[in-house]
Amino acid sequence: VIHFNGISKRFGDNVVIREFEAEVPDQEFLVLLGPSGCGKSTMLRMIAGLTDITSGELRLDGELVNEKTPKQRNVAFVFQSYALYPHMSVRANIAFPLVMDRFRWWHHIPFVNGFVKRAIMRDPQVAAKVAEVAEMLELTDYLDRRPRALSGGQRQRVAVARALVREPSIYLLDEPLSNLDAKLRTQMRAEISALYQRVGKSFVYVTHDQVEAMTMGTKIIVLNGGVVQQYGTPKEIYDRPANTFVARFIGSPA
Ligand code: ATP
Ligand code: MG
Repeated sequence: VIHFNGISKRFGDNVVIREFEAEVPDQEFLVLLGPSGCGKSTMLRMIAGLTDITSGELRLDGELVNEKTPKQRNVAFVFQSYALYPHMSVRANIAFPLVMDRFRWWHHIPFVNGFVKRAIMRDPQVAAKVAEVAEMLELTDYLDRRPRALSGGQRQRVAVARALVREPSIYLLDEPLSNLDAKLRTQMRAEISALYQRVGKSFVYVTHDQVEAMTMGTKIIVLNGGVVQQYGTPKEIYDRPANTFVARFIGSPA
């Protein structure tokens, strides 16, 4: 259960999230939907623990997490501006979170491609997991390349793959399909939905794309100017938009 209890966020005098209220049950695919600048990424970063919550309480399964680190919250995320390690192969980039989990004493060791590569070769489970997500995201042929030798869409898929190798309790994805062409985007939507069905975990997915929200979400929060406009299932929002903003944004006939 994700409980947003009156969460607000200010940058200086600028209020970007205002009194955000929602209680989202387990294993929902929650979509944060709204126009550019409405506060979606800020909201996701607060859930991840990457930016402070100015006021209000965030609870994950009843536990107050305002002060917890991303690792303590057990979240995995894909960012809008994804960062891959340029000096590591695609394979090592994808395996990195798994390898880090297994060798905790590594934190003070520089990220060395050869090191990660040997760790993958030594551990059949890591190798199998990397192969599985690479296959799913059609990256199998690119595993030995460096990120600079990939297209934007391929890099984005590597970033998604890196988030998927782990098994966190919540997956956070910030417009992970925005750089893909239409065909691949449709295909990836289906892949992410299938993953959601398979893992039975909670997802929070940020997008400004109504079609994506309607086809992928089990619950949607419509945001505008940092204010929650409506929270409901895709059908509820489509059939009974709470106000004209929601109706226009969703393109519903009401
Ligand atoms: P987009 O769809 O364009 O990615 P978004 O809904 O993700 O937009 P946010 O990135 O959350 O929007 O930004 C919400 C508001 O907060 C914007 O007005 C932005 O300028 C402001 N903002 C975001 N990060 C900061 C920051 N670090 N310092 C100051 N203002 C910020
Ligand atoms: Mg954003």
